Amino acid sequence: MTLPHARTEKGKVWLVGAGPGDPGLLTLKAARALAQCDTLVYDYLASAAIVGLAPPDCEKIYVGKKAGAHTLTQDEITALIVKLGLDGKQVVRLKGGDVFVFARGGEEAQALAEAGVAFEIVPGITSAIAAPAYAGIPVTHRDHNTSFTIATGHEDPTKGYSSLNFAKLANRKATTIFLMAMGNLAGIVAKLREHGLEGETPVGIVHEGTKPSQRVLTATIDTVVDEVARTGIGAPAIVVIGDVVKEREHIRWFDAQPLFGKRVLVTRPSHQADDFASRLWEVGAEPVVAPTIAIGPPDDPHAAREAVTHVRDYAWVAFTSRNGVDAFFDTLTELGRDARAFGDAKIAAIGPKTAEALAARGIRVDLVPPTFVNEAVAAELLARTAPGDRVLVFRAQEARDVLPDSLRRHDRVVDVVAAYKTRFVDDPELAAHAASADIVTFTSSSTVAGFVHNVPGAAEALAGKTVAAIGPITAQKARDAGIRVDVVAEEFTVDGLLRALSAVATV
Ligand code: SAH
Repeated sequence: MTLPHARTEKGKVWLVGAGPGDPGLLTLKAARALAQCDTLVYDYLASAAIVGLAPPDCEKIYVGKKAGAHTLTQDEITALIVKLGLDGKQVVRLKGGDVFVFARGGEEAQALAEAGVAFEIVPGITSAIAAPAYAGIPVTHRDHNTSFTIATGHEDPTKGYSSLNFAKLANRKATTIFLMAMGNLAGIVAKLREHGLEGETPVGIVHEGTKPSQRVLTATIDTVVDEVARTGIGAPAIVVIGDVVKEREHIRWFDAQPLFGKRVLVTRPSHQADDFASRLWEVGAEPVVAPTIAIGPPDDPHAAREAVTHVRDYAWVAFTSRNGVDAFFDTLTELGRDARAFGDAKIAAIGPKTAEALAARGIRVDLVPPTFVNEAVAAELLARTAPGDRVLVFRAQEARDVLPDSLRRHDRVVDVVAAYKTRFVDDPELAAHAASADIVTFTSSSTVAGFVHNVPGAAEALAGKTVAAIGPITAQKARDAGIRVDVVAEEFTVDGLLRALSAVATV
């Protein structure tokens, strides 16, 4: 017998479960498989944030499978992945939830095995369990049940033969979890009743579970069909039947978070948007990433090289953003040097994120001011330096001059070096993205400027939205552009911004 992985030098196919929707529920192994694939074959239950983990040059093939709108038949999909494997590709076949739970992964694996294509199976978190969990419904609970059944609702039980044993499923003490059941719900309910399931048995329906678009309906066997018609809740959904559904009353959590379901526009540069976006997913909000600015080299890169070369000659070096830290170390690496270049120079960071970026390079900062603005850095540096001391300010080309000005007023010798330049992104879609958002965030003055650059009539475009700024300077920049600011963070970080937004959303 040949083991499947005997042929890795040829093509290989990873059958990967993408989890139920929340990108945070992707497994580490799935993320690794995605990061290295050259071809991605995916269907509609896989979320965009996860598809985005594949390398940019990876060929992405969408094979559909939305109810009623098959792009390729199952046989064509199976034939496609076999062919790609035989062609020597590193293929990820990504499926929503788990690969073997009503996902036809078994057939695909079989075909790969028969064709002698190497493959691996990466199980995913199935929506059958995760969607109820995000609705606050545990699939087992000591008070209610000792087993659960995961069943397909795809077969119409009222039409002839069904392989489902409704006599067994009609038991409120033994949870039943139906997938693909919304089309046949009335038939399923009728069948369960016929087999004696009590009318007051709780039923939970979780639509788009684990996503910001999650909707949950709780009803009973008696009322559920009418309630579904009344609320219009539809597929994709998980239907949970049994007493465990009652627990939602006590342990509802995901859709009770203050920012749940809100669409939040993220305007910061794309390389910094990911962290913010993951934090938003965690609180049940939906990030709409639309950078208004991008970071590039300064007009005069020579000055930065010069400053980096002589960095040890300064008493203090001040970094006013993470981008400045990145630019500094990029230049250092280019010069063939390392962190020892600092010598005895002391190092100041404007805030915790900048300090973290330095810490990641092995540098413990000597100073982070109590509030994360240039004025505070200036005050603290004045307290720690004497007239004649040399200070290097390594920052954005277009930054404000408060820090160097106030140091110079007190006779410190200041070199200001443009480490990088922010430029406006031209994004014709930006206005539409903003229009679709509930909350618009600005995480620096330049993100405001970039927004105004892209959206004519920015103030009107933002009427009716919640506008949130990371701090008072950014807020002022927005107000100067006529934009009403509703929320200003008290701590000038993304987490501070989320806290301020959550506090407003709960009142
Ligand atoms: N392999 C998948 C199931 C695929 S069958 C898994 O393990 O989750 C498709 C069905 O899955 C849908 O009709 C719906 O019943 C269910 N489903 C998938 N994702 C869902 C989600 N986020 N919320 C609710 N139901 C979901």
